[in-house]
Amino acid sequence: MFFLPAGPQTLQGMLSILTKSMYNCSARYIIIIFTSVYCNFKTINKCCMDDLSTMTTDCCICGGGPAGMMLGFLLARAGVNVIVLEKHKDFLRDFRGDTIHPSTIQLMHELNILDDFLKVPHQEVTTLKGQYNDFTVQIADFSYLPLAKPVLGLMPQWDFLNFIATQAKQYNNFKLLTEANVTELVKTNGKVSGIKAVTPNGMLTVSANVVIGTDGRRSTVRQQANLKVSTTGAPIDVLWFRLSRKKIDPVETFGRFAMGRMMVLLQRGEYWQCAYVIAKDGYEKIKQNNITSFQKEVAATAAFLSDRVDELKDWEQVKLLSVAIDHLEQWYCDGLLCIGDAAHAMSPIGGVGINLAIQDAVATANILYKPLLDKQPITIDILKQVQQRRMFPARIIQKVQVFIQNGIIQRKTDLTKQTKLPFFFKLLKWFPVLQRIPARVVGMGVRPEHIKTPKA
Ligand SMILES: Cc1cc2nc3c(=O)[nH]c(=O)nc-3n(C[C@H](O)[C@H](O)[C@H](O)COP(=O)(O)OP(=O)(O)OC[C@H]3O[C@@H](n4cnc5c(N)ncnc54)[C@H](O)[C@@H]3O)c2cc1C
Repeated sequence: MFFLPAGPQTLQGMLSILTKSMYNCSARYIIIIFTSVYCNFKTINKCCMDDLSTMTTDCCICGGGPAGMMLGFLLARAGVNVIVLEKHKDFLRDFRGDTIHPSTIQLMHELNILDDFLKVPHQEVTTLKGQYNDFTVQIADFSYLPLAKPVLGLMPQWDFLNFIATQAKQYNNFKLLTEANVTELVKTNGKVSGIKAVTPNGMLTVSANVVIGTDGRRSTVRQQANLKVSTTGAPIDVLWFRLSRKKIDPVETFGRFAMGRMMVLLQRGEYWQCAYVIAKDGYEKIKQNNITSFQKEVAATAAFLSDRVDELKDWEQVKLLSVAIDHLEQWYCDGLLCIGDAAHAMSPIGGVGINLAIQDAVATANILYKPLLDKQPITIDILKQVQQRRMFPARIIQKVQVFIQNGIIQRKTDLTKQTKLPFFFKLLKWFPVLQRIPARVVGMGVRPEHIKTPKA
């Protein structure tokens, strides 16, 4: 997220509300017509229904974020029976990263859905800039990337996930169950053979050839599987709030580094979505002060916001987003695999976590689709291949995030100092050709994946 924009306009907000109402309407419609969950499940999925609360499928995906939805779509498109369980009722949460990386746009191209994808309201940027005290530094230039459309897209994540869900729902072997909170793993002879989830209709059991944990950095699945987590830690947290946007304001989204403070301003049409970086666990201390002292901090970081910081009336308007960096030493056990943040929680630095989650999903689909289609048992050796392919890119990016945290942000968390332009930024300014490196790392990741799954 950091350094990166977002661009929903009013129309987009309306579309989101419309989408939400459509969801609600269709839910009501289903309840009226079918009157029971049993009929509902039986009608819309190929999965077989043993009783009121048991379903069977080939691949059970726990978590409908970027990793889970992309994996569900790719496997369903290849003909595999898939159930995705998402604990929320929709994708409309306030905070979701908004970045669609050049590599993800390239995947849309490879899937032949790029034209439809680009019809979803979004903004495109070819460069990323940061403002450090009085200096503006261009950090990355995507235009050199060898891709069909070398841009970074800014799209609210709920619109992105709704787009993927719409694509996936074209296949009747795909099923998305919302308000399904996965709470337990089911084991048969020591092997994970399914999950249990709490739904509004009671407990649901899903049996599957393989279970995939895509339930993010607080993964229940990885915890239930007792997979060992190695924590790198992150010295920062983020305060998340909105301030109104005026016509005379800058048009683009940008990172502000000023007087030892750091804030990212995401342009969301009518308002600025602000992400203000604080020292880890520092929020309680900040809250001990009056909100006016926080208003002053914000104004000192982005002077053009001085005339409206008083829109922040109390701490209720300021949400704490906790940042973590960790990884699983082993991403799998018999019958189960974790990918995305569930396997390697990413910091927002560089705005790359969504990209990695999607790349993990593509690699997983490429490796699993054939054995799943052939109804072969998914052995540990098959699951191991996913970690072997994706662990290196994830660890490299995490190391870069830690380097940036230590090099730039740890200084920032000492709010008393007016820091100099860090050497890293100086290099990018002196040698613009170096901007291709962050463009490559942010835009494509370390080991870009390509679609190898067929369309059934
Ligand atoms: C403050 C902050 C800002 C960030 N900004 C950006 C950014 O701008 N760009 C970027 O690329 N990355 C950003 N990241 C990183 C990014 O959010 C993650 O790396 C990315 O979302 C991981 O995707 P995922 O699909 O693995 O997990 P998630 O996006 O976390 O999705 C997990 C899904 O699983 C669901 N779930 C959780 N538990 C259960 C359960 N028990 N049962 C069923 N469903 C469950 C959740 O509701 C969620 O929908 C940011 C991270 C933080 C902390």
